[in-house]
Amino acid sequence: MRIAMVSEHASPLSALGGVDAGGQNAHVAELAAALVAQGHEVRVYTRRESPEQPRVVAANGFEVVHVPAGPAAVLPKDDLLPFMGAFAEHMAADWRERWLPDVAHAHFWMSGLAAVTAGRACDVPVVQTYHALGTVKRRHQGAADTSPAHRVAYERQLGRVVDRVVVQCQDEVRELLRMGVPRSQMALVPSGVNIERFRPDGPAEPRDPDVPRILTVGRLVERKGYEDLIRALPGVPAAELVIVGGPPDGSLDDHPYARKLRALAERCRVGDRVRLAGGVAAADMPRWYRSADLLAAAPWYEPFGLTPLEAMACGVPVVGTAVGGLTDTVVDGITGDLVPARDPRALSSALRRLVTDDVRRFSYSAAAVDRATQSYSWRRVATRLAAVYAAVTGRALAEDQTREAVA
Ligand code: UDP
Repeated sequence: MRIAMVSEHASPLSALGGVDAGGQNAHVAELAAALVAQGHEVRVYTRRESPEQPRVVAANGFEVVHVPAGPAAVLPKDDLLPFMGAFAEHMAADWRERWLPDVAHAHFWMSGLAAVTAGRACDVPVVQTYHALGTVKRRHQGAADTSPAHRVAYERQLGRVVDRVVVQCQDEVRELLRMGVPRSQMALVPSGVNIERFRPDGPAEPRDPDVPRILTVGRLVERKGYEDLIRALPGVPAAELVIVGGPPDGSLDDHPYARKLRALAERCRVGDRVRLAGGVAAADMPRWYRSADLLAAAPWYEPFGLTPLEAMACGVPVVGTAVGGLTDTVVDGITGDLVPARDPRALSSALRRLVTDDVRRFSYSAAAVDRATQSYSWRRVATRLAAVYAAVTGRALAEDQTREAVA
């Protein structure tokens, strides 16, 4: 199949090299490569963010098209809505004149608007993945939510007009049902993990073998729960908390939230046990996971959450909050422990128990690798998505692929 991926703000190219990429960048990069490996053609459409970016770049067997919509500069994603009309026009022109896809897969709601507009003009079916939902963001961030005013209404409408909504976890199914998106519109296919890169064996970041290492990974934003983890640390004797994410080490002193976290650690008398390592290149992430005794993921909410899955694939047990995708990926008491969100006490006792119980950690570790490789490899995810694409285009898949998709 010819598959157009639409990812207006998150370029797969930043996941392949940069340090400032989030989950959506990695998701699009891995999915595109996995679909190409299965014999499909993929073109990713993302917004042009600098005048130096060539119109088309080849990467890992797929092509990235830089769409000139709005200023050729990095803009906050919440400011991109006015440019989605131009984005759709350019994409439709590309489809008409150069490369007509069989299906378009939109990532994030604004990409969905552009894909539906271009899809209608060119008669191309559209599959939608939200990655994050405005209702959830509004519930947790309240007035701090900078999303455009009608985001939730657009998301609801998209859910009804696209050919299929790909949901990534059970929690998202419930949210969409509450929004009025029919269950018959949804296909549940989780995100994946690169099990060739994220594996237990391989080099690890140096560490002190006598100090248990609790790792946490993500952008330096409040909702990732770092403050709860710092508050939990006094109850976990001897362990260090390493926070990977944000701007690269060296520029953290200028980062207001990094400063806030350091001040909190001082107040909790764990300043010498909390280390902000800064953002690291995607290629270095496996080394960091392998250096840890466990991964702590304490978000207040999390649409899917790639980092617990990456840690599991590296054989690292997870102590996580029971929110969003974590309740699907982490099997409580088998591959990790789940605790309520925003509860430093519960976090503290779960962390203390796992840090001090070698047998439990080893058993979680083995089960975690097993679960990540069996259920979340990109090969498996791409096969299941290809079945969704085939269904909306009315095509049949090769028989062996169909068998794997339904298995
Ligand atoms: N990541 C990275 N370098 C860092 C911190 C994170 O490459 O310094 C990657 C991490 O490996 C994961 C992604 O960024 O693939 C974060 O995805 P997640 O779904 O956990 O969170 P999001 O950023 O999408 O909210």
